[in-house]
Amino acid sequence: MGKALMIGAGGVAGVVAHKCCQNWAVFEELCIASRTKSKCDAIRDSILEKNPETKTKITTAQVDANNVPELVALIQQEKPDVVINVALPYQDLTIMDACLETRTHYVDTANYEPEETAKFEYKWQWAYREKFEQAGITALLGSGFDPGVTGVFSAYALKHYFDEIHYIDILDCNGGDHGYPFATNFNPEINIREVSAKGSYIENGQWVETEPMEIKRVYNFDQVGEKDMYLLHHEELESLAINIPGIKRIRFFMTFGQSYLTHLKCLENVGMTSIEPILYEGREIVPLQFLKAVLPDPASLGPRTVGKTNIGCIFQGVKDGEEKTYYVYNVCDHQACYREVGSQAISYTTGVPAMIGAMLVMTGQWKKPGVYNVEEFDPDPFMEALNKWGLPWTENFDPVLVD
Ligand code: NDP
Repeated sequence: MGKALMIGAGGVAGVVAHKCCQNWAVFEELCIASRTKSKCDAIRDSILEKNPETKTKITTAQVDANNVPELVALIQQEKPDVVINVALPYQDLTIMDACLETRTHYVDTANYEPEETAKFEYKWQWAYREKFEQAGITALLGSGFDPGVTGVFSAYALKHYFDEIHYIDILDCNGGDHGYPFATNFNPEINIREVSAKGSYIENGQWVETEPMEIKRVYNFDQVGEKDMYLLHHEELESLAINIPGIKRIRFFMTFGQSYLTHLKCLENVGMTSIEPILYEGREIVPLQFLKAVLPDPASLGPRTVGKTNIGCIFQGVKDGEEKTYYVYNVCDHQACYREVGSQAISYTTGVPAMIGAMLVMTGQWKKPGVYNVEEFDPDPFMEALNKWGLPWTENFDPVLVD
């Protein structure tokens, strides 16, 4: 079918690459490009070891994704049908610029965040809509799990089970244990910026702000058990509030263990999570970036992590005048992911949907000039692909609700 250029060579990228190479009928060629080429080569070697029969032709390249001319040169050399951006959110706009210049489709998993402000919003990427329409290319935003599958679940619920959805609660539970007192499951800088920010949710079209970790609930997750979960701000709230008509409230909860929270509080209290540069021995350093350097690399957690994730959405609304509830979720086992592709479930649950989003753009099922969030497309082919490519989902029509 065609060729993808993937940018980034971290935890998520490893899974995307493995999955593309399992799906070789669509991804005939894959170029893995990142800042550090040796990491791209390591991903290629891991694929050839775990999946030697793949027919995907893999190449690797070095690129600085902050540099638009470098990206343009790479895209012109490789001529991919789609660019899959699994570098960091800071690179979203430069990669979108390069895609525009070369008229190449674009897929990512996280919205743009300026490096110096720790504020993620879609406005910067939505501002590219007209330019992508005029160039005749598709940008698919947020094709990970959350955002990503949570948006697809919402579109699926609306298409098949509701006339109107009034309430959505997104529940992200990680029941995994890596054995460290403190480590983050994906990029520590991005993760800590997300969880130390104020919480927020949408009610009646307005953002309601909370203190960090102010709202706590307990939920009993299928195949994981009872966990504490906390309300966070999360990027899909912004797009779902616009794209799901009739919505009254959307909240996002994520589970955290007590050890994680105690460590985080302590690191915050001593200033280690700050993104303000400080002078240290005559050199400017950003405390959070230094912290990232001393924490375990998320990619190294794979072999140590046991347990399961359970991520899904609870919907409440009406169908044919009757009140209805619906819960759809995926359960993913850390060790099963590790055996299959060499990474834990957090990277796996993000990487599989990124491959699926890129596949649907390449096959034309989700191709439409402009800039779109996942819930703006037909959810059915994506839902089918989740079952096929490793993230099967379960439905419950009488779930326990979150108060
Ligand atoms: P990692 O930190 O493991 O990997 C990031 C990769 O990007 C690294 O290989 C890094 O290179 C590369 N990179 C960083 N800056 C540049 C640059 N200027 N040029 C080229 N490459 C660069 O992150 P993850 O794999 O954990 O996360 C990847 C993305 O997935 C992030 O945007 C994250 O927010 C998103 N995500 C989305 C989720 C979802 O459900 N939607 C969930 C989890 C993550 P180097 O190795 O040299 O540092």
